[in-house]
Amino acid sequence: MKSVNLLEFDLDGLAAFCEQLGEKRFRATQLFRWIHQKGASDFAQMSDLAKSLREKLAGVAEVKPLTIASEQASTDGTIKWLFDVGGGDAVETVFIPEDDRGTLCVSSQAGCAVGCRFCSTGHQGFSRNLTTGEIVAQLWFAEHHLRKRLNLADGERAITNVVMMGMGEPLQNYSALVPALRVMLDDHGYGLSRRRVTVSTSGVVPMIDRLRDDCPVALAVSLHAPNDLLRDDLVPLNRKYPIAELLASCNRYLDAAPRDFITFEYCMLDGVNDTPEHARQLVHLVRDRVSCKCNLIPCNPSPESGLRRSPRERVTAFARVLQDAGVVTTIRKTRGDDIDAACGQLAGEVQDRTRVKERISTRAPIRIHREGPQGGSDTYNKQESKA
Ligand code: SF4
Repeated sequence: MKSVNLLEFDLDGLAAFCEQLGEKRFRATQLFRWIHQKGASDFAQMSDLAKSLREKLAGVAEVKPLTIASEQASTDGTIKWLFDVGGGDAVETVFIPEDDRGTLCVSSQAGCAVGCRFCSTGHQGFSRNLTTGEIVAQLWFAEHHLRKRLNLADGERAITNVVMMGMGEPLQNYSALVPALRVMLDDHGYGLSRRRVTVSTSGVVPMIDRLRDDCPVALAVSLHAPNDLLRDDLVPLNRKYPIAELLASCNRYLDAAPRDFITFEYCMLDGVNDTPEHARQLVHLVRDRVSCKCNLIPCNPSPESGLRRSPRERVTAFARVLQDAGVVTTIRKTRGDDIDAACGQLAGEVQDRTRVKERISTRAPIRIHREGPQGGSDTYNKQESKA
């Protein structure tokens, strides 16, 4: 008989499983606490469960961790794990420590089908959705591994915040995502507040509405462009759900959101979306229309994209235009640069089972405006510049 991985279940799911074994809900709660709060995977350890139940569980169930393929630690304390999820696929998870928090960046898919132009994951294509258990296993491993590694006192947490910003578009793996979020939020699980769990999306509008109804957590939207023409090119999903529809869904989401703003992520790409004019367009787009915060990301574009990170002074100037116009704006500190763990760099290993990779590689080059050697503005694209 195939063993059931208990990391696949939120508490209701585990209660239903226990019921099939003839056990009451409170047994499921005890089991859930052992797994998620204590990090136990050996049923023999679970001392307050009846011996008969422990034996029953050992015959039909397991707590299945992911296989660690590699671990890299940055000089700034960031840690990146590569987890083998079978079939030639591996996904990445990143721990980012700060003075007042520990954030875990979690993957939701092996690869990604959205194909954002600058993103390393996007350039690898798409293999498959992760299961709930594979999403939860990233947090389960990181929390309990780090508690030991960092020598934390009893009751102290290693992970205080989770961001679904690793590999994949979480809202394109909705049915696995929502139970995983419930495990994170459950007081018998990780007990994270809704404000400390963030789903980041490239803008899957119908699923933003469903998330609001099913499990509202903090929402970050990868905007990356202040107009449809440019966003169609950078984030191809925009052709299906253009900016006006996306912003309308953000406003609907705010009715239930645990924070009173949406975070707009904006990867700063040299000569592509980072001019003062783009900043003014962004002000016009969001100010007085959506309660939001803009987070400018000095992003590391995928090498295949031919794009570059905006210079620091351009990012600062862009931020100033937004701030002067009253738009709350932050510049994200880049972390884990030396281990390719920063935004845009997560790649893992993906067997592309779609034609996403091929579509990206045959896409027309984007127009890039960079200052020419004489100080004038030069417009060119990757292929022209090679000629
Ligand atoms: S940025 Fe996000 S949505 Fe876009 S391709 Fe990368 S992983 Fe997918």
